[in-house]
Amino acid sequence: MPYDYDDQNVFAKIIRGEIPNKTAAETDLSLAFHDIRPQAPVHVLVIPKGPYVNSDHFGAEATDAEVLDLTRLIARLCTDLGVAPVAGGAGYRLISNSDRAGAQEVPHFHVHILGGKSLGRMLPD
Ligand code: AMP
Repeated sequence: MPYDYDDQNVFAKIIRGEIPNKTAAETDLSLAFHDIRPQAPVHVLVIPKGPYVNSDHFGAEATDAEVLDLTRLIARLCTDLGVAPVAGGAGYRLISNSDRAGAQEVPHFHVHILGGKSLGRMLPD
C-alpha cells in the first residue's frame, strides 16, 4: 500500500502558515514547535516540512538532506531546551507514534521531545 499524505492535516496547515504555532526552532527543511497540550514541562514537536506521514515513510523516501536536518535539529533542541545531559539536563524521551497501533493523532511525521521531569517507564504496565 503506498503512502497517502493528507495535506489538510493540522501540521500541514502550520507549515503553510494557515494556523499559528509557538515555534521553538526552524530551518529550511524542518520546524519545531511547542505541543499545544504539553505532557511534560518540555514538550516540543519536530517535523519535516516535506509531506511524510510517519517515521517509516520519512526514513524510506526523504532526502539525505531532510533526514540529516531533522536529526541535527532534534539534537540541537535537546541541548537548547536544557534536557540533554551535555547541557546539564537529566535526559529526555523521543517518541514518534505511527498509525492506529501507535495512536498517531496527526498524520504528518513528527518526533515528540519530552523532558523536564522524570518520565517514568516507557509504557504503562
Ligand atoms: P500524536 O498522537 O503523536 O499524533 O501527537 C500529536 C500531537 O500534536 C499531540 O501531542 C497534540 O497535542 C499535538 N497538537 C495537535 N494540534 C496541535 C497544534 N495546533 N499545535 C501544537 N500541537 C498540536
